[in-house]
Amino acid sequence: MTNTTPPPSSSRTADTLIHARWILPVDGGHAVLENHSLAIIEGRIAAILPTAEAQTLWQSAHVLHLTDHALIPGFINTHGHAAMTLLRGLADDLPVLDWLKNHIWPTETAFVNEDFVYDGTRLAIAEMIRCGTTTFSDNYFFPNAAGQAALEAGVSCQLMFPVMDLPTAWAKDAAHYIYKGLEVIDRFRNQESIMVGFGPHAPYSVSDEILKEIATLSEQLDINIQMHIHESAQEVTEAVKSTGIRPLHRLGDLGLLSPRLQCTHMTQLNEGEIQLIALHGCSVLHCPESNLKLASGFTPVARLQQAGVNVALGTDGCASNNDLDMLGEMRTASLLAKAVAQDATVLSAWGALEAATINGARAMGIETETGSLEVGKKADIAAIAMNELENQPMYNPVSQLVYTCTRNQFTHVWSHGRLLMDNRHLTTLDEAFIKQKAHQWQVRISAR
Ligand SMILES: [Zn+2]
Repeated sequence: MTNTTPPPSSSRTADTLIHARWILPVDGGHAVLENHSLAIIEGRIAAILPTAEAQTLWQSAHVLHLTDHALIPGFINTHGHAAMTLLRGLADDLPVLDWLKNHIWPTETAFVNEDFVYDGTRLAIAEMIRCGTTTFSDNYFFPNAAGQAALEAGVSCQLMFPVMDLPTAWAKDAAHYIYKGLEVIDRFRNQESIMVGFGPHAPYSVSDEILKEIATLSEQLDINIQMHIHESAQEVTEAVKSTGIRPLHRLGDLGLLSPRLQCTHMTQLNEGEIQLIALHGCSVLHCPESNLKLASGFTPVARLQQAGVNVALGTDGCASNNDLDMLGEMRTASLLAKAVAQDATVLSAWGALEAATINGARAMGIETETGSLEVGKKADIAAIAMNELENQPMYNPVSQLVYTCTRNQFTHVWSHGRLLMDNRHLTTLDEAFIKQKAHQWQVRISAR
């Protein structure tokens, strides 16, 4: 027996070894691990342990000392229309129907094509990586172009191809959308980082017959459905007038309610409807800033969570937000939930962080793969520097993260162990080229 330190042969070699001031695992508890390290091997988390031990037990050719940083799970942005980032600030401060019918839809009709979606999605992904997002859900036309952009950038994507009765540049009727969507499923079948699902636009824009077909195909193929549901009071009132039934009940009658259904918005819910979605295990995708900007209404987050419903966060598209900042979305969600419930204890800082990470993974059915920092899961990680004057004094890193930090404090982002942002520099995307493309689209769209 000797007292010497273990020989090098007994230490393990990581592809990347990160020594961090804090690690927030978001693994079901509220642990804040101080002076801890995280080892990555083949894209997955191989170990999380105190730095003092890691320095003895682990070695790596890529060691980072993030001495003022917190490591958190990469954000999961569960709802958006990435390419619409090219329409950011085009039309603001308008009632939703005026905004859609007189501004967004005519612009989309004139300009949306494969190039628009590819360039717009790359702009969106660059913004999302810069604020700590490693997985996003997209619902837009020409999904092959969006999926290609995600693959090239190295982020994970849930690609929900649109389905609606109206013709667009991508498809001519609902059956054609489904036909093209099934091709998208085939296109990305072998890509682990791309999940494809159904994105029927809303109850008012898709017929009963097509919704039934989507319910059947979703079950047969075991793929998710994401839909804007009960976004505004007007949507519900008009549906009751034309069909005699509230949209959520109609979807229930058509067989759509299941754990595969991701219900976006849900600002108009009575107690029976909350129990209905809890019973069927549907998730709610809460987009508070879009709801506020379009004056859509208030999602009853606290009541949903009390009923056991999984509530995850999304930014929605940039045309109605106008950013893809999940840090800002967490803060807004937490503050708004308190105001709506008239209870300061609901959607705590930890609750908001869970909604932006593990709850999003749950909604997509990938919670065993990502959404928290745990050994065996994908190394989807964001590092945020917390040494700014504005973060002092530091009583509680989670409080700082949700209520104080701004998105420019993110320094490093890994997706499946691959470094996508290195000290604010994007490694897979050319920022100057993306800005140039955005400017070209701005010039063309402004001249319409
Ligand atoms: Zn949306």
